[in-house]
Amino acid sequence: MTMLAGRVALVVGASSGIGKSIAIKLASHGAKVVLASRRQMEGDKVVAEITALGGEACFIAADVTSSESIKNLLAQTVSTYGGLDIAVNNAGIEGSTFVPTADYDEATFDAVINTNVTGVWRCMKYQIPQLNHQGVIVNMSSIAGLRGNEMMGCAYSASKHAIIGLTKTAAREYAAQGIRINAICPGVIKTDIAERSLLHDEILKRRVEKLHPIGRLGEVDEVAESVLWMVSDQSSFMTGHAMVLDGGVTA
Ligand code: NAD
Repeated sequence: MTMLAGRVALVVGASSGIGKSIAIKLASHGAKVVLASRRQMEGDKVVAEITALGGEACFIAADVTSSESIKNLLAQTVSTYGGLDIAVNNAGIEGSTFVPTADYDEATFDAVINTNVTGVWRCMKYQIPQLNHQGVIVNMSSIAGLRGNEMMGCAYSASKHAIIGLTKTAAREYAAQGIRINAICPGVIKTDIAERSLLHDEILKRRVEKLHPIGRLGEVDEVAESVLWMVSDQSSFMTGHAMVLDGGVTA
Protein backbone atom coordinates (compact mmCIF):
# COMPACT_ATOMS: atom_id res chain seq x y z
CA MET A 1 0.00 0.00 0.00
CA THR A 2 2.45 2.68 -1.09
CA MET A 3 0.29 4.86 -3.34
CA LEU A 4 1.20 7.94 -1.23
CA ALA A 5 4.67 6.87 -0.06
CA GLY A 6 6.88 9.84 0.84
CA ARG A 7 4.01 12.34 0.69
CA VAL A 8 3.07 14.64 3.53
CA ALA A 9 -0.67 15.00 4.15
CA LEU A 10 -2.46 17.46 6.43
CA VAL A 11 -6.02 16.59 7.48
CA VAL A 12 -7.83 19.47 9.21
CA GLY A 13 -10.76 18.33 11.36
CA ALA A 14 -9.29 14.88 11.90
CA SER A 15 -10.24 13.99 15.47
CA SER A 16 -13.51 12.21 14.61
CA GLY A 17 -15.91 11.03 11.91
CA ILE A 18 -14.99 11.49 8.26
CA GLY A 19 -11.70 13.32 8.98
CA LYS A 20 -10.45 10.55 11.26
CA SER A 21 -11.24 7.96 8.61
CA ILE A 22 -9.46 10.00 5.91
CA ALA A 23 -6.35 10.39 8.10
CA ILE A 24 -6.20 6.62 8.76
CA LYS A 25 -6.74 5.87 5.05
CA LEU A 26 -3.98 8.23 3.82
CA ALA A 27 -1.54 6.88 6.44
CA SER A 28 -2.36 3.29 5.45
CA HIS A 29 -1.31 4.18 1.89
CA GLY A 30 2.10 5.46 3.00
CA ALA A 31 1.55 9.20 3.64
CA LYS A 32 3.02 10.91 6.69
CA VAL A 33 -0.08 12.48 8.17
CA VAL A 34 -0.50 15.60 10.29
CA LEU A 35 -3.87 15.51 12.03
CA ALA A 36 -5.28 18.85 13.14
CA SER A 37 -8.31 19.82 15.16
CA ARG A 38 -9.11 21.53 18.44
CA ARG A 39 -9.31 18.39 20.55
CA GLN A 40 -5.84 17.15 21.56
CA MET A 41 -7.02 14.04 23.43
CA GLU A 42 -9.15 12.68 20.56
CA GLY A 43 -6.41 13.58 18.06
CA ASP A 44 -3.77 11.74 20.09
CA LYS A 45 -5.98 8.62 20.11
CA VAL A 46 -6.19 8.65 16.29
CA VAL A 47 -2.40 9.08 16.06
CA ALA A 48 -2.00 6.04 18.36
CA GLU A 49 -4.36 4.05 16.11
CA ILE A 50 -2.33 4.96 13.00
CA THR A 51 0.98 4.16 14.70
CA ALA A 52 -0.36 0.77 15.87
CA LEU A 53 -1.17 -0.02 12.22
CA GLY A 54 2.43 0.78 11.24
CA GLY A 55 1.74 4.28 9.85
CA GLU A 56 3.36 7.64 10.59
CA ALA A 57 1.35 10.54 12.03
CA CYS A 58 1.36 13.39 14.53
CA PHE A 59 -1.29 15.67 16.00
CA ILE A 60 -1.15 19.48 16.05
CA ALA A 61 -3.92 21.39 17.85
CA ALA A 62 -5.47 24.00 15.56
CA ASP A 63 -8.63 26.07 15.28
CA VAL A 64 -9.77 27.07 11.78
CA THR A 65 -11.44 30.21 13.17
CA SER A 66 -8.01 31.67 14.04
CA SER A 67 -5.47 32.82 11.42
CA GLU A 68 -2.65 32.65 13.98
CA SER A 69 -3.54 29.05 14.74
CA ILE A 70 -3.56 28.04 11.05
CA LYS A 71 -0.27 29.88 10.36
CA ASN A 72 1.27 28.02 13.29
CA LEU A 73 -0.19 24.70 12.03
CA LEU A 74 1.47 25.12 8.62
CA ALA A 75 4.79 26.23 10.15
CA GLN A 76 4.80 23.16 12.44
CA THR A 77 3.74 20.82 9.60
CA VAL A 78 6.62 21.97 7.41
CA SER A 79 9.17 21.89 10.24
CA THR A 80 8.05 18.36 11.26
CA TYR A 81 7.91 16.67 7.83
CA GLY A 82 9.80 19.11 5.54
CA GLY A 83 6.93 20.14 3.22
CA LEU A 84 3.31 19.60 2.24
CA ASP A 85 1.86 17.53 -0.63
CA ILE A 86 -1.77 16.95 0.35
CA ALA A 87 -4.28 19.00 2.35
CA VAL A 88 -7.81 17.91 3.24
CA ASN A 89 -9.95 20.71 4.70
CA ASN A 90 -12.67 18.79 6.51
CA ALA A 91 -13.43 20.84 9.66
CA GLY A 92 -17.07 21.85 9.83
CA ILE A 93 -19.99 22.54 12.15
CA GLU A 94 -23.69 22.10 11.46
CA GLY A 95 -25.24 25.16 13.18
CA SER A 96 -29.00 25.01 13.82
CA THR A 97 -30.99 22.29 12.10
CA PHE A 98 -34.70 22.44 11.19
CA VAL A 99 -34.77 26.23 11.78
CA PRO A 100 -36.32 28.19 8.87
CA THR A 101 -34.36 31.07 7.36
CA ALA A 102 -36.42 33.89 8.96
CA ASP A 103 -36.00 32.35 12.43
CA TYR A 104 -32.28 31.57 12.09
CA ASP A 105 -30.10 33.16 14.78
CA GLU A 106 -27.53 35.70 13.51
CA ALA A 107 -24.70 34.65 15.85
CA THR A 108 -25.12 30.99 14.79
CA PHE A 109 -25.16 32.00 11.12
CA ASP A 110 -21.89 33.94 11.59
CA ALA A 111 -20.29 31.04 13.48
CA VAL A 112 -21.14 28.53 10.72
CA ILE A 113 -19.77 30.82 8.01
CA ASN A 114 -16.64 31.56 10.05
CA THR A 115 -15.82 27.87 10.57
CA ASN A 116 -17.05 26.31 7.33
CA VAL A 117 -16.27 29.03 4.75
CA THR A 118 -13.69 31.44 6.17
CA GLY A 119 -12.06 28.43 7.85
CA VAL A 120 -11.55 26.63 4.53
CA TRP A 121 -10.28 29.84 2.90
CA ARG A 122 -7.89 30.47 5.85
CA CYS A 123 -6.55 26.94 5.52
CA MET A 124 -6.02 27.27 1.74
CA LYS A 125 -4.43 30.73 2.19
CA TYR A 126 -1.64 29.27 4.35
CA GLN A 127 -1.46 25.83 2.67
CA ILE A 128 -1.03 26.94 -0.96
CA PRO A 129 2.35 28.71 -0.47
CA GLN A 130 3.70 25.58 1.29
CA LEU A 131 2.47 23.01 -1.26
CA ASN A 132 5.13 21.13 -3.17
CA HIS A 133 4.86 20.81 -6.97
CA GLN A 134 1.81 18.68 -7.86
CA GLY A 135 0.26 19.44 -4.47
CA VAL A 136 -3.42 18.59 -3.99
CA ILE A 137 -6.19 20.07 -1.87
CA VAL A 138 -9.60 18.51 -1.18
CA ASN A 139 -12.27 20.64 0.53
CA MET A 140 -15.25 19.07 2.30
CA SER A 141 -18.55 20.30 0.89
CA SER A 142 -21.82 18.32 1.00
CA ILE A 143 -24.97 17.64 -1.00
CA ALA A 144 -26.18 20.68 1.01
CA GLY A 145 -23.73 22.59 -1.21
CA LEU A 146 -25.56 21.52 -4.37
CA ARG A 147 -29.18 22.23 -3.49
CA GLY A 148 -31.25 23.85 -0.73
CA ASN A 149 -31.44 21.86 2.50
CA GLU A 150 -34.21 22.75 4.95
CA MET A 151 -33.13 20.02 7.38
CA MET A 152 -29.57 21.31 7.87
CA GLY A 153 -30.64 24.96 7.61
CA CYS A 154 -29.67 28.01 5.56
CA ALA A 155 -26.25 28.71 7.11
CA TYR A 156 -24.96 25.17 6.58
CA SER A 157 -26.27 25.02 3.03
CA ALA A 158 -24.87 28.49 2.20
CA SER A 159 -21.51 27.50 3.68
CA LYS A 160 -21.26 24.28 1.68
CA HIS A 161 -22.22 26.10 -1.57
CA ALA A 162 -19.51 28.69 -0.81
CA ILE A 163 -16.86 25.99 -0.39
CA ILE A 164 -17.47 24.93 -3.99
CA GLY A 165 -16.99 28.56 -5.14
CA LEU A 166 -13.72 28.83 -3.20
CA THR A 167 -12.58 25.49 -4.63
CA LYS A 168 -13.32 26.32 -8.27
CA THR A 169 -11.72 29.77 -8.11
CA ALA A 170 -8.53 28.57 -6.41
CA ALA A 171 -8.35 25.59 -8.80
CA ARG A 172 -8.30 27.94 -11.80
CA GLU A 173 -5.77 30.27 -10.16
CA TYR A 174 -3.21 27.57 -9.28
CA ALA A 175 -3.71 24.95 -12.02
CA ALA A 176 -0.78 26.30 -14.06
CA GLN A 177 1.49 25.78 -11.04
CA GLY A 178 0.59 22.09 -10.97
CA ILE A 179 -1.68 22.38 -7.91
CA ARG A 180 -5.04 20.57 -8.07
CA ILE A 181 -7.96 21.66 -5.88
CA ASN A 182 -11.26 19.76 -5.70
CA ALA A 183 -14.26 19.45 -3.40
CA ILE A 184 -16.26 16.41 -2.33
CA CYS A 185 -20.03 16.43 -1.68
CA PRO A 186 -21.14 13.48 0.46
CA GLY A 187 -24.73 12.53 1.18
CA VAL A 188 -25.57 11.67 4.78
CA ILE A 189 -22.71 9.72 6.36
CA LYS A 190 -23.00 7.99 9.74
CA THR A 191 -20.97 10.30 12.06
CA ASP A 192 -21.39 12.51 15.16
CA ILE A 193 -22.64 15.49 13.09
CA ALA A 194 -25.27 13.31 11.42
CA GLU A 195 -26.18 11.68 14.76
CA ARG A 196 -26.62 15.08 16.46
CA SER A 197 -28.62 16.64 13.65
CA LEU A 198 -30.53 13.89 11.81
CA LEU A 199 -30.13 10.36 13.15
CA HIS A 200 -31.06 10.64 16.86
CA ASP A 201 -34.75 10.05 16.07
CA GLU A 202 -35.74 6.69 14.50
CA ILE A 203 -38.54 8.11 12.29
CA LEU A 204 -36.31 10.93 11.06
CA LYS A 205 -33.46 8.46 10.48
CA ARG A 206 -35.69 6.30 8.26
CA ARG A 207 -36.82 9.43 6.36
CA VAL A 208 -33.20 10.41 5.76
CA GLU A 209 -32.28 6.87 4.65
CA LYS A 210 -35.16 6.92 2.15
CA LEU A 211 -33.79 10.13 0.61
CA HIS A 212 -30.89 8.00 -0.64
CA PRO A 213 -32.05 5.89 -3.62
CA ILE A 214 -29.32 3.40 -2.75
CA GLY A 215 -31.40 2.66 0.40
CA ARG A 216 -28.88 3.40 3.16
CA LEU A 217 -26.58 6.06 4.59
CA GLY A 218 -22.92 6.35 3.65
CA GLU A 219 -19.99 4.98 5.66
CA VAL A 220 -16.96 7.08 6.61
CA ASP A 221 -14.69 4.61 4.83
CA GLU A 222 -16.55 5.20 1.54
CA VAL A 223 -15.73 8.92 1.78
CA ALA A 224 -12.12 8.16 2.72
CA GLU A 225 -11.71 5.85 -0.31
CA SER A 226 -12.90 8.61 -2.64
CA VAL A 227 -10.62 11.19 -1.02
CA LEU A 228 -7.69 8.76 -1.38
CA TRP A 229 -8.35 8.63 -5.13
CA MET A 230 -8.75 12.42 -5.32
CA VAL A 231 -5.37 13.10 -3.65
CA SER A 232 -3.54 10.38 -5.60
CA ASP A 233 -1.96 10.63 -9.06
CA GLN A 234 -4.85 8.53 -10.37
CA SER A 235 -7.00 11.68 -10.57
CA SER A 236 -4.22 13.76 -12.18
CA PHE A 237 -6.47 15.51 -14.77
CA MET A 238 -9.17 16.49 -12.28
CA THR A 239 -9.23 19.99 -10.79
CA GLY A 240 -11.97 22.48 -9.89
CA HIS A 241 -14.45 19.62 -9.55
CA ALA A 242 -17.10 19.05 -6.88
CA MET A 243 -17.37 15.26 -6.72
CA VAL A 244 -20.74 13.87 -5.61
CA LEU A 245 -20.84 10.81 -3.36
CA ASP A 246 -24.45 10.59 -2.25
CA GLY A 247 -26.07 7.22 -3.02
CA GLY A 248 -28.11 8.94 -5.72
CA VAL A 249 -29.74 11.77 -3.70
CA THR A 250 -28.99 14.46 -6.27
CA ALA A 251 -29.35 12.21 -9.33
P1 NAD B 1 -17.58 15.50 13.11
O1 NAD B 1 -18.27 16.44 14.05
O2 NAD B 1 -17.24 14.13 13.61
O3 NAD B 1 -16.24 16.15 12.52
C1 NAD B 1 -16.00 17.51 12.46
C2 NAD B 1 -14.51 17.74 12.63
O4 NAD B 1 -14.24 19.14 12.49
C3 NAD B 1 -14.03 17.33 14.03
O5 NAD B 1 -12.74 16.77 13.93
C4 NAD B 1 -13.95 18.67 14.76
O6 NAD B 1 -13.04 18.67 15.81
C5 NAD B 1 -13.49 19.57 13.60
N1 NAD B 1 -13.73 20.99 13.83
C6 NAD B 1 -14.92 21.62 14.02
N2 NAD B 1 -14.71 22.94 14.21
C7 NAD B 1 -13.37 23.14 14.15
C8 NAD B 1 -12.52 24.28 14.27
N3 NAD B 1 -13.00 25.50 14.54
N4 NAD B 1 -11.19 24.11 14.10
C9 NAD B 1 -10.67 22.89 13.87
N5 NAD B 1 -11.41 21.78 13.74
C10 NAD B 1 -12.74 21.90 13.90
O7 NAD B 1 -18.52 15.37 11.84
P2 NAD B 1 -18.35 14.72 10.37
O8 NAD B 1 -19.68 14.27 9.97
O9 NAD B 1 -17.20 13.78 10.34
O10 NAD B 1 -18.04 16.03 9.50
C11 NAD B 1 -16.82 16.27 8.83
C12 NAD B 1 -17.08 17.17 7.65
O11 NAD B 1 -17.91 16.50 6.70
C13 NAD B 1 -17.82 18.47 8.01
O12 NAD B 1 -17.28 19.53 7.24
C14 NAD B 1 -19.25 18.17 7.56
O13 NAD B 1 -19.96 19.35 7.26
C15 NAD B 1 -18.99 17.33 6.33
N6 NAD B 1 -20.10 16.48 5.90
C16 NAD B 1 -20.65 15.57 6.76
C17 NAD B 1 -21.70 14.77 6.31
C18 NAD B 1 -22.34 13.76 7.22
O14 NAD B 1 -23.44 13.29 6.89
N7 NAD B 1 -21.72 13.37 8.30
C19 NAD B 1 -22.16 14.90 5.00
C20 NAD B 1 -21.58 15.82 4.14
C21 NAD B 1 -20.53 16.61 4.61
